[in-house]
Amino acid sequence: MCGIIGYTGRKNALPRLIEGLKALEYRGYDSAGVAFVHKNGIKAVKSKGRIALLEEKLKGEQESFCAIGHTRWATHGEPSDVNSHPHGTDSVYIVHNGIIENYAVIKEFLTEKGYSFESETDTETAAKLIDWFYSKEKSPISAIRKALEMISGSYAIGAVFEGYPDKIYAFRKDSPLLAAPSEDGGFITSDISAILRHTREFIRLEEGEIAVLSPDSIEILSTDNTPIERDFETVSWDIEAAEKGGYDHFMLKEIFEQPDAVKKTLSPRVTDGLPTLDITKLAGRCVGELGAIHIVACGTAYHAGLIGQYAIEKLARIPVKVELASEFRYKNPILRKNDLVIIISQSGETADSLAALRLAKERGVRTLAVVNVAGSTIAQEADSVLLTWAGPEIAVASTKAFSVQIALLYLFAIRLALDSDTISEEEARQYCTELTTDVPAAISKALDLTDLCSSTAQKYKDNSSIFFIGRGASSALAHEAALKMKEISYIHCEAYAAGELKHGTISLITDGTPVFAFLTNRSTADKMISNIREVKTRGARVMLFCREGMPIPDGIADDIIPIPSLSQLFMPMSEIIAAQLVAYYMSCHLGCDVDKPRNLAKSVTVE
Ligand code: GLU
Repeated sequence: MCGIIGYTGRKNALPRLIEGLKALEYRGYDSAGVAFVHKNGIKAVKSKGRIALLEEKLKGEQESFCAIGHTRWATHGEPSDVNSHPHGTDSVYIVHNGIIENYAVIKEFLTEKGYSFESETDTETAAKLIDWFYSKEKSPISAIRKALEMISGSYAIGAVFEGYPDKIYAFRKDSPLLAAPSEDGGFITSDISAILRHTREFIRLEEGEIAVLSPDSIEILSTDNTPIERDFETVSWDIEAAEKGGYDHFMLKEIFEQPDAVKKTLSPRVTDGLPTLDITKLAGRCVGELGAIHIVACGTAYHAGLIGQYAIEKLARIPVKVELASEFRYKNPILRKNDLVIIISQSGETADSLAALRLAKERGVRTLAVVNVAGSTIAQEADSVLLTWAGPEIAVASTKAFSVQIALLYLFAIRLALDSDTISEEEARQYCTELTTDVPAAISKALDLTDLCSSTAQKYKDNSSIFFIGRGASSALAHEAALKMKEISYIHCEAYAAGELKHGTISLITDGTPVFAFLTNRSTADKMISNIREVKTRGARVMLFCREGMPIPDGIADDIIPIPSLSQLFMPMSEIIAAQLVAYYMSCHLGCDVDKPRNLAKSVTVE
């Protein structure tokens, strides 16, 4: 998530940092800041909003030859000057990408030692923990090591210490960080595109290592602090390719970020194998008093809601209604005082969803927002918020934001079910283990399907219309698969619950009509196979998204994409990857503008 850049060398660091932070703007951010070493110590300057505002604040500052900078994508605490990075004390400042999962425990530990906190961030606790150990150990390396023993979570961190005015310290876990030499000094960065104007050589830091940058050297220390020799890698990408991490499009990059995004969203919310979500706090009342749940959303988020509905109703046996925000707001919805309205929105700014939220609040109904952008209007106005931590999504067609929305709804469903006594603690643990371990693994495995998805898309690209069918949660998934295809390939697609086709739509199936069918649900496999036969008999060309290992009768499929197996509840998390990949390649083969499809905007802030 977000961006880090640091420079130590013989030239003024501040212009280099501003230039680097501007190069990171494409990733999306809500605030920025720098900490720089000057003759009286370390000074931090930070600003909510654009880099230009930070640049303005830095005007007139003296030269500095060692500095760290950050573009923040808030996860803990709203975007604001004070929550912006760097965080620290007179002795140490850090910039941080990621999430310190046990920040509350660290905060308590430090409060007992007399520390106070000015921001709401997790990062400030890490900065002050390093400060605490630095005050004892007097050595940056020992302070970092001691602090890391206590910290859990994901991080890429750059640090500067008072007393070491020309050094930058860098270390990471589950979040990338590079160290790179240049003609006049050295850089750290989380994204090579920030420094491509100065260097093409870099070292990728490994977990457990600490990089120590001086103007003339980059030293890499292993876990036991012995120096390691590492060859530099050279980037061959231009700036545009580097921004996309070497992928051809942001959409493909974001599809590939899904295993990590899911882990980042879930793991801080699971402790001792159980979800730590506090339903009473989120829903404003204890589970026994909870009436119906209304999930209100638009587009892809609406489809996430449909899958959430299957999960919540199956596990917790609480009735869930999923509504389109644009309809909900004008229909005088029936809301009872014990109900819960869940608003799902990637951007947190979707106009219809915001109006639905305000309507629910007006009616005195408790609201919970599931959004990806901290500090967004929906996040601020809802009674409670569950942030998805997918990081910024740049491609207009949503991929990773969808996956984390459903992942979080699953976790919510498990907690709700546990609190409602509809599942046992053992079952909850099993679901949690599968969700946090097997699901990311299955997503990674599904990502190996790129070649097959590309060749399958190639075979179907000249069709003007495609049908998508599925049963159960896979019928909801079929709607999302169809939407993805429509958004970026402009092929007309229709999605149906498979049993519904014969009630009308089957009249549209003629010789060669493509039907993409999800055959993944073991309990309804026979029914699904019958539905596939019905279209096959009428000449359909059938492409199966088929659960790996599922027996398929001869002659029902023209093409098959095997979907990594999970328990039925979680299958949509693995199915969606293949569906996204087929849509992506379809768009590429047709020469469409994948990341910026026509007529669409990333955040729909109009009615
Ligand atoms: N968790 C940190 C915060 O909210 C860092 C977020 C980021 O990666 O920018 O401040």
